[in-house]
Amino acid sequence: MIGVFGGTFDPIHFGHLRSALEVNEVFGLSKLLLIPSAQPPHRAEPAASATERLQMLELAINHHPELCVDARELERDSPSYMVDTLRSLRHDYPQETLLLFIGADAFKQLMSWHQWPHLFDFAHIVVMTRPGVVLETLADFFKARHCQQLTELASTRAGKLYFQQVTPLDISATAIRQMITKQQNPGFLLPDTVLAYIRQHQLYQRH
Ligand code: ATP
Repeated sequence: MIGVFGGTFDPIHFGHLRSALEVNEVFGLSKLLLIPSAQPPHRAEPAASATERLQMLELAINHHPELCVDARELERDSPSYMVDTLRSLRHDYPQETLLLFIGADAFKQLMSWHQWPHLFDFAHIVVMTRPGVVLETLADFFKARHCQQLTELASTRAGKLYFQQVTPLDISATAIRQMITKQQNPGFLLPDTVLAYIRQHQLYQRH
């Protein structure tokens, strides 16, 4: 099974990285692809450029060969729709089970994603817990796809919904950016190498 972890990563932090490491182990993934969104369609333009966010990701996963950075969304000159990313991954890995990992906050917005039902044509979706985010009753579309057993996921290549607990780390990129803007130290919320890059490139200094 191949894992897909998309995000703005503006910047990458230990909430992303710890979750990535845990799901990699729990699901026994052959690889986990971290895919920075070049032009996130569902939110304001990121503060750091796509190239800067990609470079921070590469610094963050250095020495962790089980995690890979995949830059395919930077190669497209169009909004970074996850459905297009999954379609292209399915093309690259026709026989593999694909697991798309999203946080509970992202899951709550899923029905606003471009062609969202088609995400399930290409991958299973695994929703990771996130502190402060409570999920309400599932819509019928999701209930029909919800599976309780991890072992069920490997039997098909796509189409199911699964919920996975991860260590609750109440860290967000927004809070980190705000700390930097206020000249506070966000140390120990993200890797030192990423923080050094942010300082070197003077990112997030202004609102
Ligand atoms: P921002 O504060 O700018 O919205 P963020 O911290 O939510 O950023 P994203 O890059 O938007 O980070 O998140 C990418 C994915 O990682 C999303 O699916 C999100 O739900 C998930 N995620 C982010 N932070 C955590 C965390 N602390 N624990 C679990 N999942 C997380």
